[in-house]
Amino acid sequence: MFASLSDRLTATFKTLRGKGRLSEADVDATVREIRRALLDADVALPVVRQFTAAIKERALGAEVNQALNPAQQVVKIVNEELIGILGGETRRLRYAKNPPTVIMLAGLQGAGKTTLAGKLGRHLEKQGHRPLLVACDLQRPNAVNQLQITGERAGVAVYAPEPGNGVGDPVAVARQGIEHARSQHFDVVVVDTAGRLGVDAEMMQQAVDIRDAVQPDEILFVLDAMIGQDAVATAEAFRDGVGFDGVVLTKLDGDARGGAALSVRHVTGRPVMFASSGEKLDDFDVFHPERMASRILD
Ligand code: GDP
Repeated sequence: MFASLSDRLTATFKTLRGKGRLSEADVDATVREIRRALLDADVALPVVRQFTAAIKERALGAEVNQALNPAQQVVKIVNEELIGILGGETRRLRYAKNPPTVIMLAGLQGAGKTTLAGKLGRHLEKQGHRPLLVACDLQRPNAVNQLQITGERAGVAVYAPEPGNGVGDPVAVARQGIEHARSQHFDVVVVDTAGRLGVDAEMMQQAVDIRDAVQPDEILFVLDAMIGQDAVATAEAFRDGVGFDGVVLTKLDGDARGGAALSVRHVTGRPVMFASSGEKLDDFDVFHPERMASRILD
């Protein structure tokens, strides 16, 4: 991930090496290269604009640091601005004062919600919690079964509607799941919901109904980073449709460019909280803006 962006930025910084002072023309050329590299990485235009404007202003401004040469100074500025667009600090989960904490997952079909439920469950358990996964994706054939298998692999309990129980009502299952968590002393509930292949009014309404019924402490929007430029529009649709508190980026392992990762925070105003980078349960981590920025500038 970010391979091409990293290479392009490194090449740009190289042209500044050995310069005693940066002229306005040097800064302009550098900013132009950074802009092209970001656009080629599928970073959303408003993000590119803000980012390059900030770099230009700071690089031309009176940021004198005797310890750094001009090239190092530019790298430092780009690094700080990257951390900024990635969200600054890590945003951790907020737990309810009165358990169970309810975390609802929303996102398109195939985004990786069910897989993520297992990963998140395992992560929560490692943090000393007692999570319960609730299977409210009754749309996709086999989704309930998939969550049960994922839960088993992750060693995390799953609440699912009885098999053969007709079409099923996801709102009722969500309510029952939380009741079950309360009575069995699970302290965090992860509610998996149904998605569709594209943004769809019925899917959004179902997510809203589940949200209103369970009043989640956190709504996490699960976003497939590989969908490239569609990521931003999808994220906006979910923010306006159901709303969310944080983003989980999935399939970072398959995303060569990194545009979604660099755009979603700025465009939606919501932090990226977790990142998934593979199909295995352990391919998952809390999202650290600083580490991600240093990967880009490595
Ligand atoms: P859902 O429809 O949102 O519940 O999506 P699923 O959890 O069923 O995931 C869809 C597909 O993406 C499955 O084949 C998963 O194994 C795969 N998947 C999920 N997360 C990742 C990831 O981080 N990297 C890769 N490469 N594949 C993933």
